[in-house]
Amino acid sequence: MKNPILILKSIFQRVAAETSSQKQMELIVSGVHDAMHVAVCSLYIHYQDELVLVATQGLDPGAVGHVHLKIGEGLVGATAKSRHPINVEDATTRPEYRYFPETQEERYHGFLSVPIIHLRRLVGVLVVEEEQARKFTGDDEAFLITVASQLAMIIAQLDWDTLRPDLDIMRMFRVAGIKGAAGIGIGRVRVIADSGLKKIPDRRITDIDTELHVFRTALDLTQEQLAATEAAMTSTLPHDIAAIFSVYRMLIEGGDLARDIEENIKSGNWAPGAIRHVINKFVNVFEDMEDPYLKARSEDIRSLGNKLYANLHLQQPQQEQVEEQVVLAGELISITEFAKYKPEHLAGIICYGGSSLSHTAVLANALGVPAVMGTGEIKGLNDGILAIVDGYQAQVILNPADTVVQEFAALREKDRSLNDMLEHLRDEPAMTRDHVRIALYTNTGLLADISPGLARGAEGVGLYRSEIPFMVHENFPTEDEQYENYRHILSSYQGKPVYIRTLDIGGDKPLPYFQFEEENPALGWRGIRFTLDNSSIFMSQIRAMLRASEGYNNLHILLPMVSRVDEIDSFLQLLDDALEQLNGEGRAIFKPRVGIMLEVPGSISLLPFYAKRIDFLSIGSNDLSQYLLAVDRNNPRVSTMYDHLHPSVLHEVNRIVVDARRYGLDVSLCGQMASDPMAVVFLIGMGIRILSVSAFNLPKIKWLIRSITFKKARDLLKEAMQMENEQAIRTSVLEYLDSAGLGELISRRGQAAVPTPQNVPAVVN
Ligand code: PEP
Ligand code: MG
Repeated sequence: MKNPILILKSIFQRVAAETSSQKQMELIVSGVHDAMHVAVCSLYIHYQDELVLVATQGLDPGAVGHVHLKIGEGLVGATAKSRHPINVEDATTRPEYRYFPETQEERYHGFLSVPIIHLRRLVGVLVVEEEQARKFTGDDEAFLITVASQLAMIIAQLDWDTLRPDLDIMRMFRVAGIKGAAGIGIGRVRVIADSGLKKIPDRRITDIDTELHVFRTALDLTQEQLAATEAAMTSTLPHDIAAIFSVYRMLIEGGDLARDIEENIKSGNWAPGAIRHVINKFVNVFEDMEDPYLKARSEDIRSLGNKLYANLHLQQPQQEQVEEQVVLAGELISITEFAKYKPEHLAGIICYGGSSLSHTAVLANALGVPAVMGTGEIKGLNDGILAIVDGYQAQVILNPADTVVQEFAALREKDRSLNDMLEHLRDEPAMTRDHVRIALYTNTGLLADISPGLARGAEGVGLYRSEIPFMVHENFPTEDEQYENYRHILSSYQGKPVYIRTLDIGGDKPLPYFQFEEENPALGWRGIRFTLDNSSIFMSQIRAMLRASEGYNNLHILLPMVSRVDEIDSFLQLLDDALEQLNGEGRAIFKPRVGIMLEVPGSISLLPFYAKRIDFLSIGSNDLSQYLLAVDRNNPRVSTMYDHLHPSVLHEVNRIVVDARRYGLDVSLCGQMASDPMAVVFLIGMGIRILSVSAFNLPKIKWLIRSITFKKARDLLKEAMQMENEQAIRTSVLEYLDSAGLGELISRRGQAAVPTPQNVPAVVN
């Protein structure tokens, strides 16, 4: 038997080099056909509840696109239904056999089909056939199953629009994803291409002169850089490598390239789109050349294009000027991108990657911007397409019909009026019906979201993510710049506690100006590990916080990702040094309360040792769940396994609360769990008395707290702790909340209350 891995590798390589979906599928069937030496290999795709023949080697090619089978219909449909291979000696004698004259399949007898399944979803069926009646061998079957499993991902990502030309992008379609942030947003798409020039979309502009100016500045800058690099390197580089610089220079100074780009801008395209367009054109010309030397120059052009684009990027505005509501779409929208838009202009976020606990989602939650994550790349998604982002049901509807827009706009209004209705709770205490008082703090990070927290009655800041201002900066902010930020927040919340977390970068929060590659960043140089190793950065942050606390004394310092006692000791030493320095300068600064984020499971057993050193704990349920369940918070493939109501998370959080009480530590919770009404019931039952939630969710959580009793919450917790999975736990708490009259609040978080328009086709993604 052939080596399936080698065969797959070669099929995969050829498929990857193709851009047309149809060609990709043809390559798959011809690859399998040749490798197995069979008469026929056909591929059926599962599309809108049908199996459609999309490629074949051996059957009549005219049948492609015309053979449609229901699930369960014929042998192919039976394979899809049972999700098991079917291997029969003579297909034509089987009762399920279904003959399509257009395929001219009657000549074939030996039949083997296997389902293609991606992330538990059927994406297609792969079939091989032989002329003579014979059962395929066990080796054949094993080979086809291996091929199908490896091809599943490629097939799941095929471009459905070219596959079904009748489903053009202007038709309404729906894409399912993962919940990022609740709410409904309606706006025009803006594609954020952070993966370089290749994926830059076209964008219509009106101010052509400014765009030309931006491009010419980037061009001049590129020329200067090339000249400087050339001058610095010609003496040290071999002649042929140095010659590359003269190729670049010729390309730029020759004029054609720049002139074509300018022409494209004049036709109304923005500069990045114009550069992509012209560079691609030049690359294609060179790639088609016979001469290998000239052919290889296409890479130089591409690289020149990237340089131009990078220089253009430097001049992009800090703040985007938009007049209408926009929906940002991209792989993972960075905090830097967020910061370019005023919150009132951000209607929603669509991320092809990520999950509900990616930092993009966390930030969207904080700002109350609806977000859907992990949609997979949406082919054909362009600037200007109208999109509905439904963060409740984790779906995006593109090109919605007017009636659908109206339907969702009405829901958005209902949502707003619920929030307005809850406004009267602003100054009411978050107290259960049996008088258990919960302090409701807010999570922030951007100065922009300070006021919503106050306006909604936050009693403090339970988590200030100090890395966010670091991330929207161009380099490490100075001590004075940080001081301004911290002073602003401490003064805004005068008399109330403010937990400022020290820099938590690394993992999925890289700093644009301090990049490092790690094989496994979630387990790498993150949080306090990074800051302790970069003590001058750490020291300037500690000093800035302490200086900012002078006179207010409401600063609490929170340390992220602590997993060892010595990390706390090292920090306390730095803190003492900073206090000594500052007080030596004649200031009157008091030692703040110090706490840690409890997010590394290994820390739980160390609580008795921590307790001698710190004052409080804040449970970071996002990372705690990630590390307890070994589920990457950014990986859409495993996002359905990521649930903070998983019994293990519930048990461990309960254990932390019990231990914290035993060791005299105050305990709060600041992860997304505190914003999930179902989880909040259990947290109250455990005895947590401080929750930190996004400003957006605060009124709803307060309403919930005021509507339940501690006693009932404790009983529900006891029951939940006996359950074996999160579904059972959710069902039980949902029943209770419904009966307590809070159904509206809960059903809005993903149950049936938000209608899915029946007529909107789902796009497999
Ligand atoms: C957490 O891990 O729960 C948390 C609040 O921190 P972050 O989401 O910023 O990692
Ligand atoms: Mg965390």
